[in-house]
Amino acid sequence: MRLIFIGPPGAGKGTQAAKIVDRYRIAHLSTGDMLRAARDAKTPIGLKADEYMSKGELVPDDVIIEIIRERLRDPDCGGGYLLDGFPRTLGQAEALDAMLAASGTPLDIVLELRVPEEELFQRLSRRGRADDKPEVIRQRLVAYRNQTEPLLQYYQGKNLLRSVEGVGTVEEIFERLVKVLDSVA
Ligand code: AMP
Repeated sequence: MRLIFIGPPGAGKGTQAAKIVDRYRIAHLSTGDMLRAARDAKTPIGLKADEYMSKGELVPDDVIIEIIRERLRDPDCGGGYLLDGFPRTLGQAEALDAMLAASGTPLDIVLELRVPEEELFQRLSRRGRADDKPEVIRQRLVAYRNQTEPLLQYYQGKNLLRSVEGVGTVEEIFERLVKVLDSVA
């Protein structure tokens, strides 16, 4: 199974992503995790990325597309994968489409986790990550609305989009996700 997991910052995507990859035994590709690891290791890409991450802005498409292009070549991706935090712009989505068309490995589904915006801000404020300061949170929500939300229509147009309510307990939300995923797996 190859899927994109999409949703605003603070929706609980990371928690659910971990449970999904465990259940379906697929690779978990989180671009946020990859960038934080690169930043902590102080690689050139990581240091460059941090200039954007610390402001709540998106890292430029060319950087992130190359990271994903390389990661998708790893053998573990052959058994399927969940993309968490990528694509986040139309440019990234189109680049991904081109890569997957070239390798003849189309996406099975794009899952959206929906959470009302008021709830997101509260959840993020409680989390305490470096980019969870109020002004950075606001910027990340703006980036989601302006740059990432248009992807929902894009994938709807390809008949790949399925949306799930991200409100409730972790287990309740996971059950909803599994129901949808089992219908395509
Ligand atoms: P996340 O953990 O997915 O919320 O990502 C944390 C930060 O990493 C984001 O606020 C962006 O600055 C950066 N980032 C992660 N994934 C991407 C992406 N696909 N495109 C651009 N920036 C990204």
